[in-house]
Amino acid sequence: MQKQTLVMKFGGTSVGSADALVKAAQIVKDARAEYPRVVVITSAMSGVTNLLLDSAALASQGKVDSLPSAESTLREKHFAAADALIKNEHLREVTKAEINVLIFSLVDLCKAIAILGEASPRAMDAVASIGERMCVRLLGAVLQDAGINAKAIESTEFVVTNAHFQHAHPDFKATTEKTRQLLNPLMDAGVVPVTTGFIGATPEGVITTLGRGGSDYSAAVIGSVLPADDVWIWTDVDGVMTTDPRIVKDAVTLPEITYSEIAELAYYGAKVLHPKTIRPVVDAGIGLRICNTFNPTHPGTRLIANAPSDSKARNGQVVKAVTAIRNQRLVTIEGRGMLGVPGVAARAFGAVASTKTSVPLITQASSEQSICFAVPSESAASVLNALQAVFASEIEDEDIDRVWMTEDVSIITVVGVGMRHTPGVAGQVFTQLGNNKANVLAIAQGSSEVSISMVVAATDTELAVRSLHELIVK
Ligand code: ASP
Ligand code: MG
Repeated sequence: MQKQTLVMKFGGTSVGSADALVKAAQIVKDARAEYPRVVVITSAMSGVTNLLLDSAALASQGKVDSLPSAESTLREKHFAAADALIKNEHLREVTKAEINVLIFSLVDLCKAIAILGEASPRAMDAVASIGERMCVRLLGAVLQDAGINAKAIESTEFVVTNAHFQHAHPDFKATTEKTRQLLNPLMDAGVVPVTTGFIGATPEGVITTLGRGGSDYSAAVIGSVLPADDVWIWTDVDGVMTTDPRIVKDAVTLPEITYSEIAELAYYGAKVLHPKTIRPVVDAGIGLRICNTFNPTHPGTRLIANAPSDSKARNGQVVKAVTAIRNQRLVTIEGRGMLGVPGVAARAFGAVASTKTSVPLITQASSEQSICFAVPSESAASVLNALQAVFASEIEDEDIDRVWMTEDVSIITVVGVGMRHTPGVAGQVFTQLGNNKANVLAIAQGSSEVSISMVVAATDTELAVRSLHELIVK
């Protein structure tokens, strides 16, 4: 059957300048030739969300001096692109005026935050949403001016979420209904809806965001509720690479990657895709491709299902990619009195959760005399305090000898579905690290057996990544 519906998401750099927008417009034109129905989703222009959130954070400390400069940066960035690309004067002026209104709303919001001396998560979302709301108008007008029958529409009108500001969760049922109701008639009429990633609204209409980098997730959500046949994520690299090319020069693009591999990669620090993106597309059986706006003829990386044949190592290819997450600390709870005592782990992780910290890696030795886990360095102090408080009496009774943490460490992860059926991968991995004199502080293997993670000192990060990358057959 012919493919009908395509959802394409453009990331910040893909709409970050007049040059990029010209390429994006061409990409939309080309996609239209292939798919009768196309939905375009946009991030904020690159750098904009950070600038907005920084302005709000400063305002919460009563600082509004830099607001005029933030305003003019935003104006210049959007207006320069509008001036360069929107030839129709009326369209150009209307678009700029709408963007200007949004910039004024930023100023108003920041002033209000400064008066209150506090930025609530809800206020932060109102501020953060402005980037996508400006960009959707710009991109919509650029596409129209390029002869594409496009219409800008804010996703706040159809992505319905709970009120968990800054990490809102979509209500899939309500979102399905509204998305179809609003987007299908447009597409039936031959219009390309251009909408905002990252943002949604509560049933009452209060703006929320899905979390930083969340426009990938928006694409997956919108793609899955329509449903689309394919979701394409346009970014500024040729897809998913074997590792960070800044660390290893001969890193290459993977033509294909399975859902479980990319889930591990995204979780363990490869900045290719927001981790939440995967679930909706897997559940809906939708194809996903990651491709480069600046190199659109490159096929990019295709996500493929975890078919049994894929789980075998291909031409001996077991390890497919290596990632590093920096700025972590290892926290250890130690003590002979913990042996066989139920509930210690539950209380420990309860204490960690109370600091709103998420734990990327856990190991427990079978002697049960210690529990060890990683937390981001920035939350390490509050985690340690919470643990000392919750175990105060055990520490006093010396059932727990100490709760302590390391200096900064990195979590290095090797990923590959072939590992599941190939004995000896862990051996290869540790031999390689040993031969290269990278010292391993802790190890964890996901139960999915798609990845092995090890913790190394911060100073060993590059060494570990480079040596493990050598295990990848090219
Ligand atoms: N603009 C938002 C951010 O920077 C969402 C995104 O780009 O995906 O986090
Ligand atoms: Mg982004």
